[in-house]
Amino acid sequence: MPAYAPDSVIIPSSAPHGFLIDMDGVVYRGNQLIPGAERFITDLLDLDLPFFFLTNNSQRTRRDVVTKLHRLGITVEEKHIFTCAMATARFLASQKPGGTAFVIGEGGLLNALHENGYSVVDHDPDYVVIGEGRAVTYEMMERAIRMVLSGAKLIATNLDPTCPTQDGLRPGCGALVAMIETATGRKAFSVGKPSAVMMRAARKELGLDAIRTTMIGDTMETDILGGVQLGYRAILVLSGGTSREDLAAFAYRPDMIVDSIADLSAAELAGLTRSAP
Ligand SMILES: [Mg+2]
Repeated sequence: MPAYAPDSVIIPSSAPHGFLIDMDGVVYRGNQLIPGAERFITDLLDLDLPFFFLTNNSQRTRRDVVTKLHRLGITVEEKHIFTCAMATARFLASQKPGGTAFVIGEGGLLNALHENGYSVVDHDPDYVVIGEGRAVTYEMMERAIRMVLSGAKLIATNLDPTCPTQDGLRPGCGALVAMIETATGRKAFSVGKPSAVMMRAARKELGLDAIRTTMIGDTMETDILGGVQLGYRAILVLSGGTSREDLAAFAYRPDMIVDSIADLSAAELAGLTRSAP
């Protein structure tokens, strides 16, 4: 028996355990860092655990996201960011390499499409791709609708009905998509959370097995549903848009519910520590 028993013991693990972490409502709210987030991410980096920030916001590039996080006090690299814009662009590149797209969206989406060999055009596109942003005009919506009616395929980066902002909610990608769907009678294919396309792509890029993947999020319809469908451990944090009372409305549940990321231990979740006897 050692004279001194530490609180926990580091146990080496053969296969890595990793994390997919939503940002808004988990790591920050607006421009406010959520207490405990910095410590959790530092632990992931120190323990060399694979992780992605997994976001349904297609507006920002990976670099934009890194900058936003850095200003909030979290220092990560571009390789730690996985956006629905990236997932959408990679998906389209695999479906139709070198295709064309009419885009309603901003830098993050345009960049991702270019990086994946797509041309952004304003007539006769293979795809109409919808992201979010504040640059959308009624005229762009008209054009998108006519293109879809002429045979362009309708792709949504995500179907989130709203986006949180400092001043309250604004219409999200899902609201724009609904307008086009209603006008055309065509259904969009959505790539962002909870779509298996994005959830699986992120896990595979981290080199993880499904049973060693933990999804941490604040939204039942995206983060938790995606995690449940893909067989990941799904952890709901109550620091964002969901309260404990809301859970009764859902036919699925997360594996774990905590008030915030401050209540989570990266080492424990990754199976690296156990209580000393
Ligand atoms: Mg969120």
